[in-house]
Amino acid sequence: MFDKILIANRGEIALRVIRACREMGIKSVAVHSTADADAMHVRMADESVCIGPPSGAQSYLSIPAIISACEITGAQAVHPGYGFLSENANFVQIIEDHGLTFIGPSAQDIRTMGDKITAKDTAQKLGIPVVPGSEGGVPDVESARKAAADMGYPVIIKATAGGGGRGMKVATSAADIDVAFSTARSEAKAAFGNDEVYMEKYLQKPRHIEVQVFGDGKGNGVHLAERDCSLQRRHQKVFEEAPGPCITPEERTRIGKICADAVGAMSYSGAGTVEFLYEDGEFYFIEMNTRLQVEHPVTEAIFGVDLVREQIRVAAGMPLSFTQDDLVINGHSIEVRINAEKLPNFSPCPGKITAYHAPGGLGVRMDSALYDGYSIPPYYDSLIGKLIVHGRDRPEALARLSRALGELIVDGIDTTVPLFHALLAEPDVQSGDYGIHWLERWLEENLGG
Ligand code: ADP
Repeated sequence: MFDKILIANRGEIALRVIRACREMGIKSVAVHSTADADAMHVRMADESVCIGPPSGAQSYLSIPAIISACEITGAQAVHPGYGFLSENANFVQIIEDHGLTFIGPSAQDIRTMGDKITAKDTAQKLGIPVVPGSEGGVPDVESARKAAADMGYPVIIKATAGGGGRGMKVATSAADIDVAFSTARSEAKAAFGNDEVYMEKYLQKPRHIEVQVFGDGKGNGVHLAERDCSLQRRHQKVFEEAPGPCITPEERTRIGKICADAVGAMSYSGAGTVEFLYEDGEFYFIEMNTRLQVEHPVTEAIFGVDLVREQIRVAAGMPLSFTQDDLVINGHSIEVRINAEKLPNFSPCPGKITAYHAPGGLGVRMDSALYDGYSIPPYYDSLIGKLIVHGRDRPEALARLSRALGELIVDGIDTTVPLFHALLAEPDVQSGDYGIHWLERWLEENLGG
């Protein structure tokens, strides 16, 4: 086992990894930008190293600075968290070239899944059902028109290098295709430096269902059921739960086994998430994330396992600490993402926290790096906390979420907490009756945003 792990991240996820290290008796090293000198992850880690100025590009994304920090502190392994360098195959390669261990899958697996066309192709070969779409990339608008006519409108044009919901455009009829195609391409070029796009049938009322998988890197894979992340704004998740309220035990076993077998066949190492759209009892693969997800705590809650601990064990060459048969679902869990954003436009709202009180009590977990007097810097993601609740069933989890949100105090800035109070009052949210487009429509009707 490692003696010391460096965490190449910040905020709540850096704290999350530090906590797992501490329980395992492993020393932790925080890295930080000058803007984060007073951040909680720096205070909580055993050691810390300043790696650059505020801009993410010059600090949390600076590979040379992170490698130097490993060398200075003698850290043997790097946990990337999510975002930043977590899905950067080049980073993994450089870490390994320096004799260090990356806590995550191989550079090769990250590369395969990072290119959405290769990912879809690989998934299909491994027996995972995919969304009907173009065969590979669509080079020009004539090919786009032809592909759309073949699969039938509406269609969605997506960036091959996509991520974070960017570079996606829907065409509802032949009249839209020219504009949708050129906009998707220019957005893809601007966001990812790569204008290749592909096309899929646009599903009209799917749910977002994702399967948590784990591989030991030696050909064994397990699944930890699914999360439903259908409540999304601009293709970004805001409310996640496990298990999926509409998934039957038979469906869970079937799709879970397909994913676990695929991970085994790839000799995949560590945590991964296979994302699907789900409509009328069918699953359609959209992508695989080769890292820990923001919403991993809901899975931890229903299985009572520590996924970060498991990632560290697998990276150290140890076997998985559970078999498929050990993994039995207990109750229901929900997470809401609390962002420093002002409604109704969700504009970023950094600033000084004048009072902070985290909710507590049975079945409540608050993953956050906030503290009284902390100043949220304007340079990074607006996620400031995740409130996770666990109950014996979905109604109990919903009631607990409402109670816990009422206890939470974050003064000095605006947050997305009022959104969740409002959502919990909606009958569709109470019954779990929504697809991925529900929230956008609700926001338009209720916030005009
Ligand atoms: P990203 O990597 O940018 O997050 P994804 O491929 O995971 O992109 O898609 C993100 C979201 O976009 C999905 O959760 C869903 O809301 C929507 N989406 C993607 N593909 C389709 C599709 N074929 N039909 C309908 N919605 C889609």
